[in-house]
Amino acid sequence: MKKDILSMNITELEADMEELGQSKFRATQVFRWLHVDRAETFEEMTNISKDFRKVLDEEYEIYTLEIVKRLISKIDGTRKYIFRLKGGSLIESVMMPYDHGNTICISTQSGCRMGCRFCASTINGLERNLTPAEMLGQFYAIEKDTNEKLTNAVLMGSGEPFDNFDNVARFLELISDNNGTKLSKRNVTLSTCGLPEGIRKLAELKYPVTLALSLHAPDDETRKKLMPIANKYTIDETLAACWEFFERTGRRVSFEYSLVSGVNDSKEHAKKLAELFYGKNCHINLIPVNPVDERDYQQSTKEAIERFRGILEKYRINVTIRREMGRDINGACGQLRNETMKEETIG
Ligand code: SAH
Repeated sequence: MKKDILSMNITELEADMEELGQSKFRATQVFRWLHVDRAETFEEMTNISKDFRKVLDEEYEIYTLEIVKRLISKIDGTRKYIFRLKGGSLIESVMMPYDHGNTICISTQSGCRMGCRFCASTINGLERNLTPAEMLGQFYAIEKDTNEKLTNAVLMGSGEPFDNFDNVARFLELISDNNGTKLSKRNVTLSTCGLPEGIRKLAELKYPVTLALSLHAPDDETRKKLMPIANKYTIDETLAACWEFFERTGRRVSFEYSLVSGVNDSKEHAKKLAELFYGKNCHINLIPVNPVDERDYQQSTKEAIERFRGILEKYRINVTIRREMGRDINGACGQLRNETMKEETIG
């Protein structure tokens, strides 16, 4: 089987190039062809001898994703993509054109096994982990398709990044490489349902990404209703890892709180949450839950959302309400993928 060259870093490529009787310098040259020029064949690498291009072609594969669907919002230009991976798995990525730059929402797994009750990505369970090349592939395919630069990335598509730690860490290394795309890690947000050992491992790498924790409840009892992971780790344990991340990296942690009517959106919940975060350097992002057909959760009312925000603000907590993008094409995260999977089985 050919080696997946897009997932390799320069150190690994150097070792390979030497083994193939080339100078080390060849590695950086090939890396730049792949990640700066975005070559999709070795044939394009014209400053490399024809003979060696042939060798490369026999040894390695340059991974590209196939676009299955592309939906473009008429309201704000948000684009949703369904890609097919090798082996047939489908994944979903989104491009959001914000004023501060184009942001891509990347999937880290095909499906997910965390089981959050309100989330569509988890309905059919986990299919498989994505490789670093498949995460980069989403970025490269969208830049190519739009002919625009992406300036920010959020790992908030399908999947739990810390359930695929090594590949996600490699993706972050590759996308920020000075000989490659050079995306600043500061422009990357990694969102997790809260696996403390993953948070600590990321803190050890000292990557200055923004960590976003999906909290969704101020107490363990409420959190257990929404997220099975709450049966494994308490909020206290999870937050301890978050504060450690902050100490190690100096990066303020974000907390996501999806408001579900009648489940986690009362005055009492808001007060408890405010007390939990009082005086902490953090940011809370309130997300009106996006109803998923298969689940019977309802979005909180506008009044409940505003009341919730007001209480947090009284405690001087940084709080924002997430703006809804691409309302006209916006099934909840993972829904377009589910629909497409159904269509493909029927059709
Ligand atoms: N596995 C990661 C990334 C998932 S998606 C995580 O759990 O953080 C990014 C965010 O969207 C998470 O906070 C997730 O809980 C939230 N989310 C998923 N489905 C949602 C829905 N239907 N409505 C509102 N928020 C949702």
